[in-house]
Amino acid sequence: MDLKECIRLIPNYPKEGILFKDITPLLKNSDALQYTIKQMVKFCENKQPDIVVGPESRGFIFGTPLAYELGAGFVPVRKPGKLPAEVERVEYELEYGTDALEIHKDSIMPGQKVVICDDLLATGGTVQSAIQLIEKLGGEVVGICFLIELTFLNGADKLKGYDVQSLIKY
Ligand code: IMP
Repeated sequence: MDLKECIRLIPNYPKEGILFKDITPLLKNSDALQYTIKQMVKFCENKQPDIVVGPESRGFIFGTPLAYELGAGFVPVRKPGKLPAEVERVEYELEYGTDALEIHKDSIMPGQKVVICDDLLATGGTVQSAIQLIEKLGGEVVGICFLIELTFLNGADKLKGYDVQSLIKY
C-alpha cells in the first residue's frame, strides 16, 4: 500500500516556505490507518516494549493503538503545564528561543523498555527531548517509529545508536 498517496501537501502552512504534511487524509482512510498501525506493530513486536511514549499531539494518535496492539502501556509527553502530577522536564532550542516538554515522573519505572512513536521526524528536536525524558526516568529506548521522515532535515543524525523506522520518506 502506498501511504504517501494519503498524505496531503499544504504549501506555506503554518508559515511561508513550509510544505506541511497533512496526515488527516490517511487517518480517515480505514485501510491506510490499519496498514500504518500494522507496520508499526511489525517493527516493534520483537522489541517487547513495556511502554509506548507519544509526544503531543499527533504522537497520541498513533502511539495509543500501537500500545494497545503490543499489549504495552501508553505514556504521553506534553507541552509545559498540561500534565497534572509531578513532572520531569527538558528544554530544547527552537529557531528563536526555547520550548520544553514534560513527562510524569512516575510514568516509567527504571529498566522498562520503551518505544517512542510520533507522526513526523523533522529536525529531531522533539524526539531527542522525549529520549532525554525517558532516560532520566531510567527507561530504555528500544525503538523509535515515525509515520513520516523529512530526510533533508537530517533529524536521524540525532538518533544514532537507536533503532529507527519511518514508513514514508521525503
Ligand atoms: P522536530 O522536532 O523538528 O523533529 O519536529 C517534529 C514535530 O513537529 C512532530 O511532533 C510533528 O508533529 C511536527 N511537524 C513538523 N512538521 C510537520 C509537518 O509537515 N506535518 C505534520 N507535523 C509536523
